[in-house]
Amino acid sequence: MKKYMEEALKEAKKAAAMGEIPIGAVIVKDGEIIGRGHNETETGCDPTAHAEIVAIRQAAKRLGGWKLPGCSMYVTIEPCSMCAGAIVWSRIEKLYIGSMDPKAGACGSVFNIPREKKLNHFVKTFYYYVYNLNLILQFRI
Ligand SMILES: [Zn+2]
Repeated sequence: MKKYMEEALKEAKKAAAMGEIPIGAVIVKDGEIIGRGHNETETGCDPTAHAEIVAIRQAAKRLGGWKLPGCSMYVTIEPCSMCAGAIVWSRIEKLYIGSMDPKAGACGSVFNIPREKKLNHFVKTFYYYVYNLNLILQFRI
């Protein structure tokens, strides 16, 4: 599992190199990375181009459908409400979060959308806390 979070961090570094907020995500199915993404909101002029959305789009194309059963997402920072919604709607099974976002996080901080019992899909969520990584500290300060 650690290796997948490291892959997500590689994506975050790509975002940083582009001048984007450094967030990265990967989606794993049966031990294989089938989707990866980093923030592209500035360069793509797209407010929805968060790392998680980019990774979900890639994984869905790869699987040939909008549902991502049996998939796990590894993301460096707690997803926002938009991404948490997309994670639920894409039926991702497990979500691994590198660090919390107390200001806008929607997976336990401000909201807890993946565990909202009123929705029709429940995402098992795990927290990593990789605070010691410079990239995340840079974003959080
Ligand atoms: Zn987001």
